[in-house]
Amino acid sequence: MTTFVPRHYAPDVDRGKIAQYFFDLRARRITVDSTQRLSERMMRVRFTGADLDDFPTVAPEDHVKLFFDRDERGDVRMPQLVDGRWSPAGHTYRDYTVRAFDPAGPTLEIDFVLHGHGVAGRWAASAAPGDSLGMLGPRGAFLVRDVCDWYVLAADETALPALSRWVEGLREGVPVTAYVEVQDERDEIELTTRADLRLRWLHRGPAAPGSTRLLADAVRAHEFDDGDGFVWVAGESTSIKELRRYLSRERGLPRDCWDVDGYWRRGAANHDHHDEPEEPEDDPVEPGEPGPRGADEEPVPPASGRVDG
Ligand SMILES: Cc1cc2nc3c(=O)[nH]c(=O)nc-3n(C[C@H](O)[C@H](O)[C@H](O)COP(=O)(O)OP(=O)(O)OC[C@H]3O[C@@H](n4cnc5c(N)ncnc54)[C@H](O)[C@@H]3O)c2cc1C
Repeated sequence: MTTFVPRHYAPDVDRGKIAQYFFDLRARRITVDSTQRLSERMMRVRFTGADLDDFPTVAPEDHVKLFFDRDERGDVRMPQLVDGRWSPAGHTYRDYTVRAFDPAGPTLEIDFVLHGHGVAGRWAASAAPGDSLGMLGPRGAFLVRDVCDWYVLAADETALPALSRWVEGLREGVPVTAYVEVQDERDEIELTTRADLRLRWLHRGPAAPGSTRLLADAVRAHEFDDGDGFVWVAGESTSIKELRRYLSRERGLPRDCWDVDGYWRRGAANHDHHDEPEEPEDDPVEPGEPGPRGADEEPVPPASGRVDG
């Protein structure tokens, strides 16, 4: 079993409950060390490589961009950084969560949903030791400090790696409810935690991924405890976006008490979660109060292309 090995960095922005970090972007080449089928539709890939020497990770949602292109010799076509910036033009890349990093290896683990199509999903299905990818990031981290009275987490399988890290990192005995949408019981995995975890698996059965209201309905039906909590929801963009309004307007949760992040969108290849509103769509972001994905974005706008990881 793997555990998240925390390393300590000083936050660049400290807002009490929330700490934000910005890391220098570095292009890394990573090579498959081993693979492990975690469930019917989830493949864990353990990468290694000398470029992982100073890999930074602090928060459950830390993620990287993986690059899948090859040159004419079949070698990895790495993203090029110029003054710390890169251009996405001509590259095939996807976002993936840092499930675990062990500096002793160094090894990096990423859990891929095997959804049957898409360059990344197909790559993971046949990944073998010795295969290499390019990688950028993490560009930054958004850490919710474990100071809350309770947590509610809701995720589909693309966000299950981050949810697993969430519950692994929470302190002993703190109440956490987790709703996880998967196709059926064959996709359920064991979660490790010291928290007081109430875990509900939600089965969509034959319905297509991203087509149900399971996560939205579960969060709406949840009876929130008193006190200062945090609600984190991630999964298919369209199916969860109503929860931004629900949590902020209907439940009246302060902005530092929730995040709703669309990790992918039905029918769209390489959905960019930065294109999503962080607030309900008619709520402007208050100046000076960056939302949760603020840490993931370039502090200085890039000359060309988006910079993150
Ligand atoms: C911050 C962040 C972290 C993420 N972490 C993970 C992670 O740890 N593990 C993980 O598996 N995914 C993760 N994702 C989601 C992943 O980036 C997307 O699912 C991505 O689209 C997969 O790329 P692909 O090449 O397989 O499919 P694409 O080429 O991007 O898409 C091809 C088609 O497949 C559909 N599709 C994409 N993903 C799925 C899916 N899961 N189920 C069904 N249909 C799908 C698309 O809608 C599109 O129609 C994360 C996304 C973000 C933003």
